[in-house]
Amino acid sequence: MQKGRNWVDYKEIKSTITMEMVLKHYGVFEALQKVEGKNALGCCPIHKGTDPHQFSVCLTRNIWRCFGSCNTGGNVLDFIRMIEGGISIRDAALLLKRLFLEPVESPPIQEGTQTETKNDRQEPVTTEEKMAPPKEEVNPPLPFTLKSLHMDHPFFAENGISQETATYFGMGFCKKGLLKDRIVIPIHDHQGRLVAYCGRSINDEQAELEGKYKMPKGFVRSALVFNLHRLKIDEAPLLVVEDFISALKAHQGGFQKVVALMGSNIGKGQEEAILAHAGSAGRLILLFGASEYSQKCADECLDLFSGRLFVKKIDIAPFAETPCQLTSEQFRSLI
Ligand SMILES: [Zn+2]
Repeated sequence: MQKGRNWVDYKEIKSTITMEMVLKHYGVFEALQKVEGKNALGCCPIHKGTDPHQFSVCLTRNIWRCFGSCNTGGNVLDFIRMIEGGISIRDAALLLKRLFLEPVESPPIQEGTQTETKNDRQEPVTTEEKMAPPKEEVNPPLPFTLKSLHMDHPFFAENGISQETATYFGMGFCKKGLLKDRIVIPIHDHQGRLVAYCGRSINDEQAELEGKYKMPKGFVRSALVFNLHRLKIDEAPLLVVEDFISALKAHQGGFQKVVALMGSNIGKGQEEAILAHAGSAGRLILLFGASEYSQKCADECLDLFSGRLFVKKIDIAPFAETPCQLTSEQFRSLI
C-alpha cells in the first residue's frame, strides 16, 4: 500500500528517533551534562530556563522531564510538541517524519529565478524530480496577509524603533484576531515568501501572562533565520543575533546584514543557511545577550562555525543585557 505524506506511524517514530537526535537537531545536546552515558542534565531548552538541574533526559529510554516552569515531560513527540510552541502530537509526528525519516531534499528551484549566487545547485532539474509528487513543506507560504497593522503604537518609541525601521520590516500593532494586542512581525522564508506572523508582547506584563512571543501552530523556527531573504551575499560580515528586536535595532544602527535565530538555540536548517550566506569572505559576528543561557548559545555557535568561518563573538555585558537595549551609536562602536 502506498503510504501518503500525511500518514504517520507513531510506533516507527518513537522506535527510530531518539532524544539525542532531536536535541542535536535543536543544537542543545552538546550543552547538556552527560551522566554515565545514559542521562543528560541541563537548562531546559523549552522554557529557556537558566537552572542547569531542571531539565533531565534519559538517553536510553528516550524520555525527558522539566522540573522548572514547564513542569512536564514525555517522549520525543512531547518534546517537539512543547519546543515548537504547543503544536499537536500529530503535527509533531509529521515534523519528526519530515526531519528524520524522509530523504533530504534540496529547496525547490523556481524556473527562471535561479541565479549563480542564490543557489548552489546548477544542474537542471531531472525528469525524475519533475515527476516526483510534491512533499509537504516545512513552513509553507501563508495564503493571506494581515491588513491594517497600526504604526502609531507607543511600543515602537518605547523600544527605540523608528517608524522607518518598523515600515521596512512590515511590522505593526494588531487590533484583532489571533495576534490581537500584539506587535506583529512578518517572517519570510529564505526565498522571501511570507510564511508566518509572530506576535510580540507589547510589555512585560503581557509577556509574563501570555508569553513574550506568539508563533503560529506548526511553525518550525529551527528551519529559518529571520531577515535572511533581504540580505545580499557580499564581503561584509554577517551579524547573528537572537531576537527580532535586536535585529531591528542592528539594522537601524546601520548594520543591515543581520539575521536573528528567533530564540536561544540554533537548528540544523539555521546553521546551513548561515553558512551559505556568511559571504564570500566568510565572516560572522555573534552578538548575543549577557545571560547564561544566551552565552551558552553564543558559545555553541562559536564552536559550530569556527574553522569554517572567521567568527567574532562580541561581549555585550559591559554595555547592556541584550542587544535590543543598545543605541545605534553603541551598535556602531561595538561592531
Ligand atoms: Zn522547562
